Amino acid sequence: MGQTSFESLRKQLDDLNLQLLHLINRRAEIVREIGEIKKKHGMQKFDPIRERDMLTNLIKSNKGPFSDRTISHLFKQIFQASLELQQDEEKKELLVSRKRHPSDTIVQIGDVPIGGGEKSIIAGPCSVESEEQVREVAKFLKQQGLKLLRGGAFKPRTSPYDFQGLGEEGLAILRRVADEYGLKVVSEIVNPSDMELAERYVDVVQIGARNMQNFELLKAVGSISLPVLLKRGMSATLEEFLYAAEYIVSRGNNQVILCERGIRTYEKWTRNTLDISAVPILKSESHLPVFVDISHATGRPDILLPMAKAAFAAGADGIMIEVHPDPKVALSDAQQQINIPQFEEFLKQLDPRFA
Ligand code: PEP
Ligand code: MN
Repeated sequence: MGQTSFESLRKQLDDLNLQLLHLINRRAEIVREIGEIKKKHGMQKFDPIRERDMLTNLIKSNKGPFSDRTISHLFKQIFQASLELQQDEEKKELLVSRKRHPSDTIVQIGDVPIGGGEKSIIAGPCSVESEEQVREVAKFLKQQGLKLLRGGAFKPRTSPYDFQGLGEEGLAILRRVADEYGLKVVSEIVNPSDMELAERYVDVVQIGARNMQNFELLKAVGSISLPVLLKRGMSATLEEFLYAAEYIVSRGNNQVILCERGIRTYEKWTRNTLDISAVPILKSESHLPVFVDISHATGRPDILLPMAKAAFAAGADGIMIEVHPDPKVALSDAQQQINIPQFEEFLKQLDPRFA
């Protein structure tokens, strides 16, 4: 083979590469146009019957040297890439996305702002057990200048035999005590039909990890005007988490706080694995404030301080922590809650403001 024919074959390949490049990009433009039409008509982006027809036609026309299997594989890659192109564009348009809304959303809990540079702390018992129990914690929060009181009245427990919470009575306790000390109430609601109850008693509706994909509940909180603290599902990807937030925002309620609370892994020495990388990723993908629940993420009091520091260092707008006057006798999450003197020490070590 002479040098010139080798060079000329290479030149032909280069030309063909450019033609292929031009053709697949031209194809992508047409796919995009089709995507727009499908969107307008509310049609599904992926059409498996059409994809099968296109592959059948290609294989019918295939004269080699590539095998039908190879042709099928190559074109499937092209189809997949085209579909992803449409999906990327959809993602760009999510209401929770920073691409759509570049500046930070500040969630306003009455006169208490969340996000936009504020560093906040939500603290309180896992479950509301009695008025005295809540009052002890609330009194301490007030002394420290903290504003956000948590407590579960509806407890979605893994076992049906575990304490299920005091229900409305628990919400009423939170409201009374919070009003007494000028605090805001953060409490979980588990039922889409309980929105009126939420409006009567709470300042922030918490959606728990087990309900992150309870779409009817997400739609219901999207239709009220209270801020929402949405916790990441224990096995949810960040994409699924943001889609869950999108359910709420797309219904008209943009007052959403995202809360990383640890994910399930094979690790046994922590209750969950705190995915600290979620914080900067969520902050850059979304304009919504991001919190870290360090209690459920770890399940152990001895590492709360470094986890809180890590959360703030990673860019979190706030943390959530479980505090109980006497954790040993707590009706839920007894092993992970800290008592008031421990919380006082935690605050001093975390932030010179509290020293
Ligand atoms: C809670 O914060 O009370 C709670 C139950 O947490 P999670 O939904 O994250 O498990
Ligand atoms: Mn708990």
